Amino acid sequence: MDRRSLIKNAGIAGVLAAGVAPAVHAQAAVRWRLSSSFPKALDTIFGAAEVFAKNVKAMSGGKFEISVHAGGEITPPFGVVDAVQQGSVEMAHTAPYYFFGKNECFALGCAIPFGLNSRQMTAWTYEGNGLKLMREFYAKYGMISFPGGNTGAQMGGWYRKEIKSMKDMKGLKMRIGGFAGRVLERMGAVPQNIPGGEIYTALEKGTIDAAEWVGPYDDLKLGFNKVAPFYYYPGWWEGGPQLDFFINQKAYDALSAENKAIVEAASAVAHVDMQAKYDARNPGALKELVGKGTKLRPFSNDVLAAAFKTSNEVYAELSAKNEDWKKIYADYSKFRKDANLWFQFTEAKFDSFMQSQQKSL
Ligand code: CA
Repeated sequence: MDRRSLIKNAGIAGVLAAGVAPAVHAQAAVRWRLSSSFPKALDTIFGAAEVFAKNVKAMSGGKFEISVHAGGEITPPFGVVDAVQQGSVEMAHTAPYYFFGKNECFALGCAIPFGLNSRQMTAWTYEGNGLKLMREFYAKYGMISFPGGNTGAQMGGWYRKEIKSMKDMKGLKMRIGGFAGRVLERMGAVPQNIPGGEIYTALEKGTIDAAEWVGPYDDLKLGFNKVAPFYYYPGWWEGGPQLDFFINQKAYDALSAENKAIVEAASAVAHVDMQAKYDARNPGALKELVGKGTKLRPFSNDVLAAAFKTSNEVYAELSAKNEDWKKIYADYSKFRKDANLWFQFTEAKFDSFMQSQQKSL
C-alpha cells in the first residue's frame, strides 16, 4: 500500500471512529486531505489552507490533522469541487467562481463584476444572509462552505498593449479568473480560464494578449511584469473575491461537535490572515514593480461604464433563467446597495483624504 492510500484509509477510519463516538472526549484521530486550487509558491493564497490546517491541528491537540496538497498534486486545480463532492478528498480550498460553469451561483460566493468589496463580502457572509444562502446552494453538491480568505480588490491585469477605449477590448485574448469572462465576452474579448500556475507560459508564448491574476504581491512573484508592460486597475470584476473551504458534507457530519467548532474557528483565522497578508505585502511589491518599469494605467471611464452596463444585463438574464441565482442575487444586490450607501460617507471620505496625504506621512 502506498503512502497516499494509507493516508486515505486512515482518513476514512478516523471519520468513522469520530462518527460512532462523538460524545467521548478521547477522540480517535481524524486525518483529512485538503486539495487546493493553487500552487505552493503563492504563500498568501495557498498559505491560507496551511494556516487553517496548522490551527486545526493545534486546537485539537494533534488529534485532527489535515494534509494540504497543492493544485495538481492529488486533484487538478479545477477538479477540487468534483473531488469533494465524490468524497475522494474531504475538503478543498478554492475560489468558488472557478466553477461558474456548473452553475453561475458559485460566483456569488466569491466575486462577480462590480460586486461586494472585501469588507462588505465578509459582512454579507457572517452577518447578512450570505453564508446561509450559499450553504443552501452548496448542499446540492454535497458540501458545506466556510470562508477561507479574501485578496481585497484586485488589479486589472497585465497587457501587452494599452487599453485606451472599448475598441481595444475587441478580440483581446485574456486569461481571466472565473465568471467575469461572461461579461468580457460580451465586450468583445476572448476570455480564457487558465490555472494560476500556467498563466506565465501562456502570456510569454503569446497564446494570450493579457492576463489578470491577483495583485502586486502575487503577480510579481509569478513574473508577469517580464512579459507584459502595462498593469491596469481596478480589477472591476474582483472588488473583494472571497475564497472558501469546501468540505464534503458526510465527512463534516461525522466530526465531533468539538472538531466542528475547531473547523469554524480555524476558517475564521485563515479568512483574516489572508487579507492581512495581502494588505501588508502589496505596497512593497507595487513599488518594486514600478521600479522595474511596470506602467500603471487606470481603465478609462468608457471601459468601466460599458463593463458595468454589460454586467447588469448578464445579471438580469441570469435572474430570468436561474432560480438559485435569482434568489441569492436579490439578497446580495440589496446588501450591496445598502453597504455602498454607508461606505460612501465616512469610510470613503477618510480613505480618500488619507490617500491624498500619503506622500506627507
Ligand atoms: Ca483575479
